[in-house]
Amino acid sequence: MDKERSMEFFERAFSSKTNGCYRHCACGVIHFDVSLENNWTWEKGELEELIEHSKREPLKYIQRDGSVSTLIIKNDEYVIGCICKSIEKTKSFIDMDRIKIIDYLNRDLQERIKEEERINDRLKTQLRHVRDLKENPKEEESPEEFL
Ligand SMILES: [Zn+2]
Repeated sequence: MDKERSMEFFERAFSSKTNGCYRHCACGVIHFDVSLENNWTWEKGELEELIEHSKREPLKYIQRDGSVSTLIIKNDEYVIGCICKSIEKTKSFIDMDRIKIIDYLNRDLQERIKEEERINDRLKTQLRHVRDLKENPKEEESPEEFL
């Protein structure tokens, strides 16, 4: 698969489903759209202030030519195209250790399925007892004992 298409799938899977004129990457870098094509509603002087910040700290305030999109990875929001390359590093880890990750997820899933089946079996047994008690009530036993 070509790299671009692979990244497209990755971005789709981890997308925050938001984009906008301003996003704060989890690494601390701020990205903002200076193009006028998206007709963003900036507060008065807000864009100018960001541009000033980017002149003083160009690696912390990054001007973008378009809307800023993000991904959610490990519950943190990362900006697509950020200089921290966190997105690329995470994708690379997943791609390079794909077989190990699949093996881990398969084993984890099998264990979870077994656990669900044990719980389900226990609930069926309890339900059977409750039904039996309803059909043949005994004064000394109450259904709560089985719950
Ligand atoms: Zn970043």
